[in-house]
Amino acid sequence: MSSTQISNTGNLALVNPLQAHGTVAPTPPEQLGSRVLEIASILQTTLEIDKQIELFGKEIQRYLAVDGLIFALPNSEREVVYGRDASERATYALVLHDAPLGSIRACRDLPFTETELTSLENLLCALIYPLRNALSYKQAVEMASRDPLTGAHNRLAMNAALVREVDLAHRQTQPLSMLVIDIDHFKAFNDEHGHAFGDDVLVAVAQTIANTIRRSDLLYRFGGEEFVVLASHTGRDGALLLAERIRENVAAMQTVRGRSTRVTVSTGVAELDGGETAEGFFERADQALYSAKQGGRNRSTLA
Ligand code: GH3
Ligand code: MG
Ligand code: MG
Repeated sequence: MSSTQISNTGNLALVNPLQAHGTVAPTPPEQLGSRVLEIASILQTTLEIDKQIELFGKEIQRYLAVDGLIFALPNSEREVVYGRDASERATYALVLHDAPLGSIRACRDLPFTETELTSLENLLCALIYPLRNALSYKQAVEMASRDPLTGAHNRLAMNAALVREVDLAHRQTQPLSMLVIDIDHFKAFNDEHGHAFGDDVLVAVAQTIANTIRRSDLLYRFGGEEFVVLASHTGRDGALLLAERIRENVAAMQTVRGRSTRVTVSTGVAELDGGETAEGFFERADQALYSAKQGGRNRSTLA
């Protein structure tokens, strides 16, 4: 296992090949210069990270034999795998202008030679800028689907997800449930303590919901003080339990931004019926919310 620090031109840095030994002779690194630019322009034909890694893997095969490339996205557990993992690995942290772009691992059964690693490092230069663009694009797409105040997914994202999840649930004949959660007498927080405090309440409630649901559950801010949770593989009993847990956790919040306050939510719960459309499904959950409000608030009602 060797650990080398490599600094390439300008602000581009490839650091830490974690493992390096070798025997097989590849294309000499000094013959790769123009190819790097060509590969970069090929990678620039897409903004999809998975596709870029696949294209990069295919292109470098012409100069260097690798069995697989494993790219780990920055600040994420997601990995993009091209080919397969193997016992010999050379791992590089990719950095551009101090911004982490994730790390990439080249793998194969035979050890890498020093010359091959130099070639790989040269070839990796082709990946840096296209990858930076793809990551920026991914971030922009994610931001466009999020509510900036609470960090929950927004209504636009919900409309798309609802249709997708309903379709999937019907096809897989799996249960799908929806919670429509509305803060009780929310207007009073704004009226009594100002709009900024109302915003703080929204953030606190969103956080409490996010901390209560499972990783596989999806949280959306649907309207002003309304949230939707889509719980896949969950039937009405589980969904009602979840709604009650959210209700209890919100009611248990003692303070918001240091101000002692009492917040409650009402929730309409529905399980998708066979053949039901996304609109019909939402309509029933919303109707159940209306019943919860009519019933006195701070409660969860099943459609
Ligand atoms: P109910 O218990 O029947 O749900 O009563 P409510 O007061 O919660 O419901 P209502 O629909 O009357 O009021 C919702 C309020 O939410 C009105 C609107 O000004 C406020 N609101 C909507 N979006 C935001 C926001 O982003 N920030 C803040 N602070 N207030 C918001
Ligand atoms: Mg409302
Ligand atoms: Mg309300």
